[in-house]
Amino acid sequence: MKPPSFSYHDPTGLGEALALLSQYGDESKVLAGGQSLVPLLNFRLAAPEHVIDINGLGELAYLRRTGGTLKIGALTRHASLERSDLAARHWPLLREAVRWVAHPQIRNRGTVGGSVAHADPAAEIPVALVALDARFTARSQRGTRTIGWRDFFSSALTTALEPDELLVEVEVPEVAPGSGYALAEYSRRHGDFALGGAAVLVTLDGSGACCGAAIALLGAAPTPVRAELAEKLLMGEKITEHVAAAAAHAAVDAVSPSGDIHGSSEYRTSLIEVLVRRAILTAAARAQGEDDGKA
Ligand SMILES: Cc1cc2nc3c(=O)[nH]c(=O)nc-3n(C[C@H](O)[C@H](O)[C@H](O)COP(=O)(O)OP(=O)(O)OC[C@H]3O[C@@H](n4cnc5c(N)ncnc54)[C@H](O)[C@@H]3O)c2cc1C
Repeated sequence: MKPPSFSYHDPTGLGEALALLSQYGDESKVLAGGQSLVPLLNFRLAAPEHVIDINGLGELAYLRRTGGTLKIGALTRHASLERSDLAARHWPLLREAVRWVAHPQIRNRGTVGGSVAHADPAAEIPVALVALDARFTARSQRGTRTIGWRDFFSSALTTALEPDELLVEVEVPEVAPGSGYALAEYSRRHGDFALGGAAVLVTLDGSGACCGAAIALLGAAPTPVRAELAEKLLMGEKITEHVAAAAAHAAVDAVSPSGDIHGSSEYRTSLIEVLVRRAILTAAARAQGEDDGKA
C-alpha cells in the first residue's frame, strides 16, 4: 500500500527540527532510518500530517567516549555501531546486540535513536541498553532532559518522549572491569524479530564470584525489563550450571509474555528461561576469559 499523504520537512539543523516539532507536535512523526516508520505509514497504521526527516542532522551521528561514558548520537546507524572499534572494545554487548538486528541493508539505514524511540519490546538495542543502565537525552524548544531507562520505556511502542521532543543522545556508563556479556535470542528465521531473549552482564571478582549482574529480558513484557531477583541470586556466587538455572527460573517467574500466532505465553516463558540461563553462562565464561568476549 502507499502511505497517506503528508507534508514532508527536511530540516538541516537541530534548531530547525526542534522548531518544526514544536509547531506540529503530535500531528508529526520524526523520520530517521525509516525502517519502522515507513512500513507503519505504508500499512496506514500511522497517518501523521507532517513527517520531519532528521537525516540532514549530521551532528546527531556520532559515537564517542567521554570520561568512561559512551555517547551515541541518535542518528548513528546500526551499521556504524556494529563496525565501531570503540563499542567493540568497551561495550561489546552493544555490538553483539546490533548484529542480531534484522539484515545488513536494514542496519545500514536504521538508527540507534530510531530503535530506542520506536521501543519495540522485541528489539535488541533497547534491551542491551537496559542491561547497561543507559540514559536518554531528549531536546525540545522547552529545554533538555535526560531520562533513565526505567522512566523512558513506558509500554510497547511507547516512551516518555513528548510530541515536541527529539531523542538526541544515548549515554552508556562504563562497564566494570572483569565483566562478561552475552545476548541470547531465538527467532524462527534469521533477521526476524526474536520470540524471546536476554541481555546479560556478569562481573566476577578475583576469586571468580559474581560481584555485579544485569539481566534484561527481551520480549517478556511490554517493555524491556530487568530481572532483579535473578540478578540478586547471582551475587556472591560462582556461576555454575545450577546457579545459572536457578537465576533463569527466577527471571521468568515475575513475567508473563503475551502469546500470539508465533508462540504461546507458556512457550515464550520457557524459551526465555533457557536463553537467560545460556546468556548467564556465556557471560560468566567470557568474564573468566574463556571466550574472546571479555569486556
Ligand atoms: C524486515 C525488518 C526486520 C527488522 N528486524 C528487526 C530486528 O530483528 N530487531 C530490531 O531491533 N529491529 C528490527 N527492525 C527495525 C529496525 O531496527 C529499525 O531500524 C528500527 O526499529 C527503527 O530505527 P529507524 O532509524 O529506522 O527509525 P524510524 O523507522 O525512522 O522511526 C521509528 C520510530 O521512532 C521515531 N523516531 C526515530 N528517531 C527519533 C528520534 N531521534 N527522536 C524521536 N523519535 C524518533 C519515529 O518517529 C518513529 O515513530 C526490522 C525492520 C525491518 C523492516
